[in-house]
Amino acid sequence: MEIVTGVHQLRIPFPEGIERFTNAYVIEGNRGSILVDCGWDNSEAIWAFREELRVERLSFEEINWIVVTHAHPDHFGMAAKLRELCNAKIVMHRVDAELIPSRYGDFRKLADETEKLLLSHGVPADEAAEMREASSWGAQYVTVVEPDVVVEEGDIVSNGTFQFEVLHTPGHTPGHMCLYDARKRRLFSGDTVLFDAIPHVGVDPQSGQDPAGDYIASLENLSERPISFVFPGHGPVFNSLSIRSEEILRLLQARQRQILAVLDEGMKDAYQITRDLPWKVDGAEVAYDDLEARERRAGVCAMIAWLRHLINAGQIAALEQNGRTVYLAK
Ligand SMILES: [Zn+2]
Ligand SMILES: [Zn+2]
Repeated sequence: MEIVTGVHQLRIPFPEGIERFTNAYVIEGNRGSILVDCGWDNSEAIWAFREELRVERLSFEEINWIVVTHAHPDHFGMAAKLRELCNAKIVMHRVDAELIPSRYGDFRKLADETEKLLLSHGVPADEAAEMREASSWGAQYVTVVEPDVVVEEGDIVSNGTFQFEVLHTPGHTPGHMCLYDARKRRLFSGDTVLFDAIPHVGVDPQSGQDPAGDYIASLENLSERPISFVFPGHGPVFNSLSIRSEEILRLLQARQRQILAVLDEGMKDAYQITRDLPWKVDGAEVAYDDLEARERRAGVCAMIAWLRHLINAGQIAALEQNGRTVYLAK
């Protein structure tokens, strides 16, 4: 769908019957088109991509740059195939580009580190073993490739007609980037700001020390700019970045208050707190035990992120007890 003149949204389906889409965008210009994000790599997604291009009267050949907002499989998976089909250059932020070999190359090492992290936060051994492999299925829908162009905050990506500034927005991943067109007040936000969901922010072996703090800083950084049209990586496009980011910040503050209330009852580890709090899947409240392994892992990793953030904010403290980290209210 051509959302505004020269900007087309392509909806690329997830694999394995998951009822979600990645939004890819083709931005036309007088020096060729920029593609923002790709989708998973499987035949259904490539077929969908081709069909969407055909409906929009676009072609692979006119795409010269493939900007991948971050290294998750639903944005990066198909980049290698599309590079071949389009004869285009892949553009990524340096930090996520550097994490590609360890993320997709040495999966066992990453899984070992994840399991160690989960055990040290109180996850029982059998559950940690189940969680360690919980997202390994995703790697089969990624063709690993090194980007051709690595960018940093403030770099410019241009197709002649449109000029985009690269904004580094760590949090969801450490090297997440958005594209910002100051003249037209447009933001291609990847997964940093979505209209109908809060992106996952969690501690993992690649996340950096305080991803929750990074995410809040990224939202505040974006809110300072005039942005009146947001093109997100999933879900509907929307108008006001600042209203949506304020809403997200309010929900995140409410989550931190819930965590503090649980810690008022006594010392607990991240796993215990995760079990004590309500979780939502697709808007419906679900008990921890009814979540799938990958959702439970995401829940514990998100909890560790918020606990670390509350430590940095001076609101709680952490203690090591027999190789396990426990938290207490100050
Ligand atoms: Zn993502
Ligand atoms: Zn995504």
